[in-house]
Amino acid sequence: CGIIAVTGQGATVEVLTSGLKRLEYRGYDSAGIVVCDENGLFSRLRVAQGKNSLDRLDSDAKESEFGSIISGIGHTRWATHGGPTLFNAHPHIDCNGTISVVHNGIVENFRELKDDLISRGHIFSSETDTEVIAHLLEESLISKGSLVEAVSSIAPIMRGAMSFVAISSTEPGVLVGFKRMAPMVIGRASNTWFIASDIPAILDRAEVFYHLEDDHLVCVTGGGAEIFNLEGDSVDLVEFPVTWSL
Ligand code: GLU
Repeated sequence: CGIIAVTGQGATVEVLTSGLKRLEYRGYDSAGIVVCDENGLFSRLRVAQGKNSLDRLDSDAKESEFGSIISGIGHTRWATHGGPTLFNAHPHIDCNGTISVVHNGIVENFRELKDDLISRGHIFSSETDTEVIAHLLEESLISKGSLVEAVSSIAPIMRGAMSFVAISSTEPGVLVGFKRMAPMVIGRASNTWFIASDIPAILDRAEVFYHLEDDHLVCVTGGGAEIFNLEGDSVDLVEFPVTWSL
C-alpha cells in the first residue's frame, strides 16, 4: 500500500517511520520496517494494530536500540492475501534471513509459485502473496550472484500489478526497486537516496526526483542509482520537477 526505502549517509529509522506517516492517507492495517547495518545484519519491527500501527511503530522504534544503519525499507499494508496480522505484515524475509522485501500490489500467480517453492523445501511464515518474492529472490541470488540480477530474473515469472523494493544481507546498502503498474519514484539528497511509492513519503527529504517506468528496475546505493530494463540495458535517469510542498 505504501513503500519507503532509504540508503546512504542520511539513512535513519526516523526517515522510514516519518515517511510512512506521510502515507497515512493511503489507508493501512499494519506496518513495518527492516533496517540493515553495515555488516548486512537485518533488524525488523512490525506492528498490526490497525489505525494505531504507525504511532506504535514509531514509539517501538524509538525504544529499540537499532544502532547505526546503512539502509532500510518500510511499508504500510492494505491486506489483499492473508489477514491483517503481525505475521502477514511487511517487510517479509526469506528462510535464510538474506532477503527482505516490501511490496505493493498483487502477485496474481503466487499460488503456483508458492507450491513450487514449497516443493523445493522453502518454508513460509505468512499467508501473503508477497512472501514468494523473498523466496524467489533467495534462490535466484545464489545462481545470479547479485540482487539486481536476481530481481531482473524473477520479474518475468510473476504476474499482476506489483512494485517492490528488496534488500540483501549480502550487499549491505544496496536497494533494488522494481515497478509494474503500481507507483514508484526515486529521490536523492546529496549522498542519501530514496525509493518510495508516493512523493509525499520523501517530499521533505529529497531534493531531486526521478521517474521509474513500468518493468524497469533501479539499483540504488548512497553513491548513486542505475536503472535497467528487463533485458539488462541501462536506462537514463530522468529528473522531474516537484513544485508542491506539504
Ligand atoms: N498483496 C500484498 C499483501 O497482501 C500487498 C498489499 C499492499 O499493497 O499493501 O500483503
